[in-house]
Amino acid sequence: MPSEFELIARFFARPCDAEPGVVAGPGDDCALLAPSAGSELAVSVDTSVVDVHFPQAAPAVAIGHRALAVALSDLAAMGARARWCALAATLPEADEAWLESFAAGFHALCRRSRVALVGGDVTRGPLSLSVTVHGEVPAGGALRRSGARAGDILAVTGTLGGGRGGLEAWQAGVRDLDDPLLRAYLLPEPRLAAGEALRELAHAAIDVSDGLLADLQHLCSASGVGASLAPEALPLADGLTARLGEAAAREAALAGGDDYELLVALPPEALPEAEHRLRALDLPLTPIGRLVAEPGIHGIGDAVRAAGWQHFPGGTP
Ligand code: ADP
Ligand code: MG
Repeated sequence: MPSEFELIARFFARPCDAEPGVVAGPGDDCALLAPSAGSELAVSVDTSVVDVHFPQAAPAVAIGHRALAVALSDLAAMGARARWCALAATLPEADEAWLESFAAGFHALCRRSRVALVGGDVTRGPLSLSVTVHGEVPAGGALRRSGARAGDILAVTGTLGGGRGGLEAWQAGVRDLDDPLLRAYLLPEPRLAAGEALRELAHAAIDVSDGLLADLQHLCSASGVGASLAPEALPLADGLTARLGEAAAREAALAGGDDYELLVALPPEALPEAEHRLRALDLPLTPIGRLVAEPGIHGIGDAVRAAGWQHFPGGTP
């Protein structure tokens, strides 16, 4: 059985001397990081627990990807540039094949997102991954939840409902990671490039991790506004209606959670430029409503509202 230090050296710590801003990476008591002049640090942590946030039998490569992706999604929602992360891994055993695959998923997303893994911890216990992410934004320039104004257009990146649809696909026995719904659930893409592209255009943003309605409510209450939604405009994930049926697909898009798309409030005059920038990223940006002065969420209809809130109270834990 490899020691804790061998595990760290083999699967986690990669030399990151060449990484910008890393004065000292794994190996000392702390990492030492040098943020860029004139920037603020954006810091967030997310814990993924087996059988709460992902199924125990999920491919390890997906567990590694997902643990980092859900944490990076919060940086995206602030418009921050991702820089560094730390991983606290609680493992039931040192299964080397599993760790190899987990680390491959984690490090591949690190590379693509240009994030350096600068430290962490390894302990024994029920499988759980805590990922702390650090990003940078120009001072004063972060996309906050509280900046939305009445009259802003609400728009969402990508498609909705894939998180819930993929969970249902998994429960129905789908195991092919090429299945678009399963991909959306197990291999979500943090919208980092979109967050940066929209940072100077949008008034506010939040990532849709708890479900559109729940997260829209957070944005509205932080900004002191209400919202008028056009539910027929919601961009549904590929294959969602075929798997769940029309009504449940719409519910999943509204309240399913685990979608990790960005919900942004844009002044109407900024919409064309926002669409233009996301087209360059090959990512749809769909207007789904407007912010209004009157508090509350309007336009979703009593039937959908009742179904949404009863089936998915508050989204995922
Ligand atoms: P300490 O006992 O001082 O907390 P550890 O023995 O936990 O240090 O870790 C030794 C070094 O390895 C530290 O620099 C730590 O940040 C790094 N490290 C530990 N676990 C991980 C991990 N999962 N990923 C990356 N680096 C890690
Ligand atoms: Mg330690």
